[in-house]
Amino acid sequence: MERQPYLGGRVAQLHQYFPKLCPPYCGLEINFRRMKISPKLHVLTQAEVESVSGEEGNFDVAIKLSPRYVNEKCTACGKCAEACSMEIDNPFNYNMDKVKAAYLPHDMAFPLRFILDPALVKSGEAQKVKEACPYDAIDLDMSTKTLDLKVGTIVWATGWKPYDVTRLDSYGSGKYPNVITNVMMERLAAPNGPTQGKILRPSDGKAPETVAFVQCAGSRDENHLPFCSTICCLASMKQSTYVREQYPDAKVYIFYIDIRAMDRLEDFYRMVKEDPGTIFFKGKVAKIEQDNATKNLMVRVEDTNTASLHEMSFDLVVLATGMQPATSDEPVPISVPYDDYGFVASMHAAPGICAAGCTRTPAGVSESVQDGTAAALKAIQSVARR
Ligand SMILES: Cc1cc2nc3c(=O)[nH]c(=O)nc-3n(C[C@H](O)[C@H](O)[C@H](O)COP(=O)(O)OP(=O)(O)OC[C@H]3O[C@@H](n4cnc5c(N)ncnc54)[C@H](O)[C@@H]3O)c2cc1C
Repeated sequence: MERQPYLGGRVAQLHQYFPKLCPPYCGLEINFRRMKISPKLHVLTQAEVESVSGEEGNFDVAIKLSPRYVNEKCTACGKCAEACSMEIDNPFNYNMDKVKAAYLPHDMAFPLRFILDPALVKSGEAQKVKEACPYDAIDLDMSTKTLDLKVGTIVWATGWKPYDVTRLDSYGSGKYPNVITNVMMERLAAPNGPTQGKILRPSDGKAPETVAFVQCAGSRDENHLPFCSTICCLASMKQSTYVREQYPDAKVYIFYIDIRAMDRLEDFYRMVKEDPGTIFFKGKVAKIEQDNATKNLMVRVEDTNTASLHEMSFDLVVLATGMQPATSDEPVPISVPYDDYGFVASMHAAPGICAAGCTRTPAGVSESVQDGTAAALKAIQSVARR
């Protein structure tokens, strides 16, 4: 079950994957197809677990189902959106643009079905939008429901959320429009993103000539996320290729403490390092300030190799923020052990309960998929033992 109105997790919001630089939808589509033809698989979207009680082999789970206001007759024809004038912030694009309040969560959404925002349903426009649907797919009377399930075993895979960088006072995130985060950069580069894939400065829509990536923005810091998320260096390297591909004359600086590119990902690091337009600068960024006239950003950094201070101007700054476990503020609703950072301490969280992916540890997609597969096998074994 999934809280969002579509499957794919945060991966659905990525433009490309490192190291292959291919779109994530290749892999996601294969899995969606498998799910569609599997008669024993039931998918619930807009669903959240409210409570869990019982024991391995005999859990009672209460699930809250939020209303979509659109039923399975929807063909995604878009007539409802055409009839709708109300707009809302687009959550899929981290609120960087607007979307109609009757909307498809994104172009490749699975299930491919529209959704109505609750504000639209309450408004005087709702009836007009309902009448615009030729398939009788809009149901304005849908309401929140609770579903009670009996299950033998549970895999908890609620993943991660981007660390809240507005808590980093010295970096100006949320204050300076041209300081963005790495997750926003994924959407800026995506063809179905807020700028149709053109990487442009939020303040004035200008093509950036200089871009800074600030590594460990809040990570490896006792006051914020004390751990390393393991993927941020690689994500910035990947995003530097987005910039350099679009703007061959642009200069990219990656400000880092140490580069973390484990195992075979070292080759990807080497490939990005060969690009003369991408400069790896060893130094922790101390402060970012905005030039109010140009909206350029002044980045203050100490070069760790020479112990010299530098102030450099950039058109756009990308904060490489880490992955905070969702369980750190929304714990599993049954007792399981956690580590010091809020990740579930092991895959065998409790009898009959497995943790997978970034619920357990910060990781890339392939490790998360392997972890999910292992957890599913453990769940099958648990059920089969009874
Ligand atoms: C900027 C950036 C770029 C990245 N690029 C790459 C890359 O190129 N290659 C790579 O290998 N990795 C990349 N990663 C890492 C990748 O995003 C993770 O490996 C992946 O998202 C982990 O998947 P997951 O299923 O564990 O978690 P998630 O993707 O977070 O999925 C968890 C799902 O659980 C849902 N959920 C959360 N709470 C609840 C709840 N209470 N009830 C119901 N559902 C809930 C969420 O809505 C979400 O759909 C990147 C990460 C970042 C930050």
